[in-house]
Amino acid sequence: MYLPRYIRWFHAVTPTRGRRELAAESPPDWGACRRYDDMLKHEASVLMQARTGRIGLRSFLFTCRVPDVPTPLCNCGEGRETAEHLILYCKDLEERQEQLARQLAPSPLRTRRDLAALTAKKDTARVIAKWLLRTGRLPLYKLAMEIGGPPEPG
Ligand SMILES: [Zn+2]
Repeated sequence: MYLPRYIRWFHAVTPTRGRRELAAESPPDWGACRRYDDMLKHEASVLMQARTGRIGLRSFLFTCRVPDVPTPLCNCGEGRETAEHLILYCKDLEERQEQLARQLAPSPLRTRRDLAALTAKKDTARVIAKWLLRTGRLPLYKLAMEIGGPPEPG
């Protein structure tokens, strides 16, 4: 298990460099984070991470030079592994995407704009957060949260 290497890396990385590089990584059109009061904490976290792009997926981890992430590309080879890629474009997740689309119906889920609209509304945002967590692609979502900034006090 390589998790300890990630932890060591995390303590060694300089936050300023990481953050500057991450600015380019952030998808600008995810729904703005509203109040997620009645969401479970990990659901709210994953939504925040997806919105900022600072999420435990290869695209972000590779940009941060996390060890053991030799490529930003998804397993399917069709694009960088981002939340948006998994939800909208990943060929390996087509069945899951169809299930998600059915859950979100009648709202469409075909474009980045659809995704932005759905993540701006709490109910649909929550469905998407759960879906992302269930893909199994986010074993390091807690790490991504730490990279994104220190936790709020209290
Ligand atoms: Zn893919």
